[in-house]
Amino acid sequence: MQALTDLTDAELSQLVAENGGKAFQARQASHWLWKHGVQEYAEMRNLPASLRTAIGNRLPLRRTTIAKSELATDGTEKLLIGLHDGEHVECVIIPEGERTTLCISTQVGCPVRCVFCASGMFGVRRNLSVGEIAEQVLHARSRLEAGRRLTNLVVMGMGEPMLNLDALLPALQRIHDGNGLDMGARRITVSTSGYPRQMEQFAAADPSYNLAVSLHAADDTLRKQLVPTAAHPVQEIVLAAHRYFGQKGREVTYEVVLLEGRNDRPQDAITMVEVLGALPCTVNLIPWNPVEEIAAREGLRRPSAQRVDSFADALRRGGLKVTVRRQRGADRSAACGQLRLRQADPANG
Ligand code: SF4
Repeated sequence: MQALTDLTDAELSQLVAENGGKAFQARQASHWLWKHGVQEYAEMRNLPASLRTAIGNRLPLRRTTIAKSELATDGTEKLLIGLHDGEHVECVIIPEGERTTLCISTQVGCPVRCVFCASGMFGVRRNLSVGEIAEQVLHARSRLEAGRRLTNLVVMGMGEPMLNLDALLPALQRIHDGNGLDMGARRITVSTSGYPRQMEQFAAADPSYNLAVSLHAADDTLRKQLVPTAAHPVQEIVLAAHRYFGQKGREVTYEVVLLEGRNDRPQDAITMVEVLGALPCTVNLIPWNPVEEIAAREGLRRPSAQRVDSFADALRRGGLKVTVRRQRGADRSAACGQLRLRQADPANG
């Protein structure tokens, strides 16, 4: 079953026409849906009641709800989104000065199963639909204080975006579209753990979004320990990312979740410089947000600020541009997938 949020403009026009409406009424319905973010057909005030009822009998307006929210003292708000089949995903609103970034999910769970991540602990359950992806933006927008707007979108939440491009690309189109959520493509970043063939498909999409690659380690053996399902060698992934840069002119960001003693050693930095040093890119270091259960099972620790600084300095000395992500929402379920994990089993709280 679909919702109105799953439809393209053409499909919405067809639905309205099939129910006796005119083209301009399809545009009005779209405007209510995306610009006003209405939650009930009754709120589409300039559409005839008969048309609203007829469409409403065919499709629900939305299919997701906010099941739970957690607000951290730094203003970061995590939303647990309830899906029609009882599943849940997360999205996170991160305010920082004038900027407000939203991180969204693309799958229920994740097939990549990175050893440090709560989202991948139980693998993937299913892909999200176009509407389920786009509705996360509608929900987040409804939580903002008056005068604040979402300035950036990162597709870095639960799931591997490249494995759900069929839904993600139309959803991003809706989020980017001036008649939809009207967010500039330069403000949208999609992150992948590295699927070269799908990265090519992503590169063929119009407009040009930013690409981030979750690398975590530049050495294949080490990377395989951290990302057990990694099927492609680092060189192949980096080559695909570099082709993306060549095609789109968008510099790629490499994300590295830093784990003490596992991938933050001097040798790990040297290998990263060897692999990335000559490329136009930025490396974003993310000191791991510990999830107790995973820390105990895998023996993982968040590195000290000093170790993170040493690693960053070594990369910079090798000519790389480096940023270090500040921990946000630390007093609430900060790690990706943690809120969903607690929802599934309160003992994990
Ligand atoms: S870190 Fe990202 S890619 Fe890895 S398991 Fe978690 S959600 Fe999936």
